[in-house]
Amino acid sequence: MKFNPAKAIHDLRQFGEFGDVNPSITDSSTYTFLQGNTMEETFLGHMEGCFLYSRHWNPSNKYLAEAMAAMENTESAWITASGMAAITCALLQLCNSGDHIITSVTTYGGTYAFMKNWLPKYNIEVTFVNITNLDEVKNAIRPNTKVIYTESVTNPLLQVSNIPELAKIAHEAGAKLMVDNTFTPMIFSPAILGADLVVYSMTKFINGKNDCVAGAICGSHEFINQLSNVNNGTAMLLGPVLDPLRSSSILKNLNTLHIRMTQHSRNALFLAENFEKWD
Ligand SMILES: *Cc1c(COP(=O)(O)O)cnc(C)c1O
Repeated sequence: MKFNPAKAIHDLRQFGEFGDVNPSITDSSTYTFLQGNTMEETFLGHMEGCFLYSRHWNPSNKYLAEAMAAMENTESAWITASGMAAITCALLQLCNSGDHIITSVTTYGGTYAFMKNWLPKYNIEVTFVNITNLDEVKNAIRPNTKVIYTESVTNPLLQVSNIPELAKIAHEAGAKLMVDNTFTPMIFSPAILGADLVVYSMTKFINGKNDCVAGAICGSHEFINQLSNVNNGTAMLLGPVLDPLRSSSILKNLNTLHIRMTQHSRNALFLAENFEKWD
């Protein structure tokens, strides 16, 4: 059966400890360990979703992360305070000095600037290609290529990425495919199409209220554990945590995402048809 992201979120819906229809909001920066061995496991980086300090996991962000993982059909997810934090933390977790990234020339401006102006300071090279030209992507592969990075539908030029083919090219080269799905939540499910990591600016359609900036990284348990590792994880050490109050409000907005995306698509179709007529 075809994967249904709205149903996946619905099926996971969690209640608060008093039967509250929305989970309780965390109002704590730090946590006690109710068992001694949990403390050891957390410090050794073995525990996902164990509460130590709110820059690491906190229960509100964990509820939203679980909903995002359900929507993307990934094992796990991580919530950040902006889309750029999701993108930069994920890339810096994957890449070391000397590595190489391939991306689209039409990648979102902030991401483009990060790759063009910031990553070279750490000796991470980036090749910008026409991501819809698969031969150009293949020709850009080098022995040190670590990531192919693209947007399902690029912002702002709306080029559509061939995710299954890009995944094949990446995996044959021993690289990861990372996809920014900000423009097409519930329309594309990049992880099902072969992407290793899916990143979001939740500032846009996912929250959909223009009242905050937020982001998410969806991927394997292994990768989310690396990101949140207290000793060497970028999400933990660079510190872009989203406030739990905001995270609980985004979780509630997620419940209407399928309805909003349907209407956004109708609006886009109306514009496309009419632009064609005016041509
Ligand atoms: C807005 C946007 C971002 C950056 O997200 P912020 O939440 O503003 O940090 C990244 N990618 C795409 C495609 C975007 O539209």
